[in-house]
Amino acid sequence: MTHTYPHIIVAKFGGTSVADFDAMSRSATLVLADKNVRLVVLSASAGVTNLLVELASGLESPDRLDKIATLRALQYNIISRLKQPDAIGQEIDRLLDNISRLAETALDSRSATLCDELVSHGELMSSLLFVEVLREREVETQWFDARKVIRTDDTFGCAVPAIDAIAELAEKHLRPRLEQALMVTQGFIGSDATGQTTTLGRGGSDYTASLLAEALHASRVDIWTDVAGIYTTDPRIVPQAKRIDNLSFSEAREMATFGAKVLHPATLLPAMRKNIPVFVGASNNAAAGGTLVRRDALEPSRYRALAVRRQQTLLTLSSLNAQPTHRFLAETFAILSRHEVALDLVTTSETSIALILNATGSTSGEADMLTSSLLTELASHCHVEIETGLALISLIGNALSQEAAVCKEVFAELETHAVRMICHGASDHSLCFLLPAGSADSAVKALHRSLLE
Ligand code: ASP
Ligand code: MG
Repeated sequence: MTHTYPHIIVAKFGGTSVADFDAMSRSATLVLADKNVRLVVLSASAGVTNLLVELASGLESPDRLDKIATLRALQYNIISRLKQPDAIGQEIDRLLDNISRLAETALDSRSATLCDELVSHGELMSSLLFVEVLREREVETQWFDARKVIRTDDTFGCAVPAIDAIAELAEKHLRPRLEQALMVTQGFIGSDATGQTTTLGRGGSDYTASLLAEALHASRVDIWTDVAGIYTTDPRIVPQAKRIDNLSFSEAREMATFGAKVLHPATLLPAMRKNIPVFVGASNNAAAGGTLVRRDALEPSRYRALAVRRQQTLLTLSSLNAQPTHRFLAETFAILSRHEVALDLVTTSETSIALILNATGSTSGEADMLTSSLLTELASHCHVEIETGLALISLIGNALSQEAAVCKEVFAELETHAVRMICHGASDHSLCFLLPAGSADSAVKALHRSLLE
């Protein structure tokens, strides 16, 4: 079959880009600026997911009604600016009623299933409203339920997408419709094999966009957000931070994983698999340009960026008896795996393991990661120490584990800092270390000045 649009672009708009009617209008203009944009993926309007997550925690009456009123006001701010507000108003009312009902249910039974069902309403509402904004521009537009295509497992709050199923479902349900209309769908949400609503974890709309781009063999993914690209570090910490115009997939992936908030960490995986470039720009300032992430960035330099991840927990586990190290490691990781602990960086010695727990990400909350059943099981196997209030700093670059000067140049800047743990060598693109949270900013400033300015 030949396609009218062989070079499909998937455009994703984040919460601030659909925050209100004016933001939606600017985003609509960007969509219409390129006829190859055939699929639009949306986040919930800014603030909405946070309100829904709070409602899912089971709020008592005055508080609950208060939050629902806030949600309603946010939606009606947009609806009231539409030329034909009535039909869409009724539809949004129906979703707001669902939200009230689910929030009340959450009082008796808090569950991750209910949480995902509830929070999915944010994206459902923003996408319905955006369709209306596009229709006012006289564009043939259709609303599409992402749950028809984004098939996931049933890890509610942080569901894992089923790539092959998504490709098949997208080919069947979505591809033919791209020929007929501009399609608008939701980021972040999916459904499991039994049809229950799931979510991909906080910030997951970016991931949806790249999963759909992969499934549809798109030629580019545009991620529209509130910053004009990816910076050498957070400009709020270092005002001298510079936008990086071109990044390779590996560099950008390490940056997202290690805390650069611009992209959801998993976003680049589908793009890498299908070699699809990802553009990141600001929807309220498209003229400022942005960052293009693709397979080969031009002339990669050694140091590229610094990322910070806060609220890190360090778990140190020490063996209680003289068993061989390989057995201690195997048993420890078996326990962590059974409890699905989100860990990413690890260092080991003969008798102990230090690992960083990364709780940033799940929709249903992070406090539950160190459950009492996990701690009980660990305690019967080894000595457990927990340290909180740490920050992980990652230097992102190229050939970092091959250049003799790297460690000297990095640690010269950290003379006055108590480095709690170091991870270096597993990836050529990152060197990470853990510091007390209070000294993170000064370390980043010093490193940025000496390595990136
Ligand atoms: N609305 C979801 C969140 O706030 C997903 C996203 O915006 O990407 O986490
Ligand atoms: Mg985001």
